[in-house]
Amino acid sequence: MATLRSIRAELVSVLAAPHCICCRRPLAQAPAGPALCGACRDEVERSPGFPLRADALDGGFAPLAYEGAGRALVAALKFSRLPAVAALGAALIADRAPEGWLDAAIVPVPASPLRARRRGFDPAWEIAAAIAADTGAAAAPVLRRRDRRRQRGGSRRRRLASPPVVEASGPAPRSVLLVDDVVTTGATLDACARALRRAGSGAVRAVAIAAVPPR
Ligand SMILES: [Zn+2]
Repeated sequence: MATLRSIRAELVSVLAAPHCICCRRPLAQAPAGPALCGACRDEVERSPGFPLRADALDGGFAPLAYEGAGRALVAALKFSRLPAVAALGAALIADRAPEGWLDAAIVPVPASPLRARRRGFDPAWEIAAAIAADTGAAAAPVLRRRDRRRQRGGSRRRRLASPPVVEASGPAPRSVLLVDDVVTTGATLDACARALRRAGSGAVRAVAIAAVPPR
């Protein structure tokens, strides 16, 4: 009969065993760092990505759909706080975003004040910093959220009807690449792009690891 001690030992060995950061299946070989299994890697590599749309944007791109591996990667970043997932997302974006988009100031989409306080970890900032480290640019956190409401709860219609309140903390860079972890309605990106234009930006594009595909 399994004792509490043996169950606990088994649990520890399962948690500590090398596993896919996406689907959490065990991996045959111990990787040097966080890694994907073959199936998740295939899914990520096969994904062609698609454009992100928001009225105030000059263009947007996400390499993964917010389902399957894309959804699991966003969750791994958000809840397991793995910097390796931010680095993987940044690499996918750098690899597949249209030519020239990364030659811009890298601006993370600001978390809502409530969310930022509760988590103490900001996925958009982690990805922006990883892209900036890749390109040699500096991440410029020039936006802040003024609303105190959760953006991702509620219905799609409600979220579109009441966009988040975003403002620039000072003059905004001329050319900007907005960075978020996941895009659902595009309302947050739109509010960010409008705030940047009010503060002087000319060209505003956006990228995210994953997004809800256009209907
Ligand atoms: Zn996997």
